[in-house]
Amino acid sequence: MRSMFLTVILLVLASTARAGEVDRLYVIDCGWAHASDQSLWSPGVDGGVPIAFADKCYLIHHSREGYLLWDTGITDRLAAAPDGVTVPALGQTWHRTQTLVAALAALGVEPADVHYVAISHVHPDHAGNVDAFPGATLIIQKAEWDYAMTLPQKPFSPQHKGQPIEGDKDLFGDGSAVILSTPGHTPAHQSLLVHLEKTGHVVLSGDLVHFQSNWDNRRVPGFNHDKAESMASMEKIARVLAENHAQLWINHDKPSSDARRHAPEFYQ
Ligand SMILES: [Zn+2]
Repeated sequence: MRSMFLTVILLVLASTARAGEVDRLYVIDCGWAHASDQSLWSPGVDGGVPIAFADKCYLIHHSREGYLLWDTGITDRLAAAPDGVTVPALGQTWHRTQTLVAALAALGVEPADVHYVAISHVHPDHAGNVDAFPGATLIIQKAEWDYAMTLPQKPFSPQHKGQPIEGDKDLFGDGSAVILSTPGHTPAHQSLLVHLEKTGHVVLSGDLVHFQSNWDNRRVPGFNHDKAESMASMEKIARVLAENHAQLWINHDKPSSDARRHAPEFYQ
């Protein structure tokens, strides 16, 4: 009886120690782009039609673990290039007005305050500023890290402190921030399911899908790493959305992304 009582006490203590919640989520502008041909992202549809892309970073505050940054946007160096920089292969020109570091400073957050940086994948418009957070633990799929190290231009320092994970992971053990493996765009792309008290569940989907019409029609960009995996990942996220009554925040979808509350305002 006594040992059972002790077990109960220990279980209660253990669950108390793990308790925590995501209490704030800031949307931060991390650049934007114009592309001349939408059909690169939607093969056979909207050929020659231009499209604009948003690019956001998401600063998440957890009551026990501190700050987690989801995606880091295009490199801060672009803030010094008023005409932007063109990626010829995609006919896409990228711009940035404010650096991520300056946007965080405006919130009173220094790079050293960010304990975790998680990125959806290692493309430059998401991994552009990982090395601005040398003290943070980089949370990324192990296979995506390995893929990054095969690239001619490394998206971050190979010496960066990291927590390579495989598959889905409840980051803080309380269901408030859950990494979801969503491969296809890149070999080991991932998404993040966040639980906020007032807003409810939100899926931050990286480049699982680039804009709303592609989601509605389940279209896969021609340059994705794997089409079948991309389709399966979209179906997985559709299930997660239904199970959690969650919102899907499509990062690059400019109309919906720009319409969200931006820092210094936040979601709770
Ligand atoms: Zn992207």
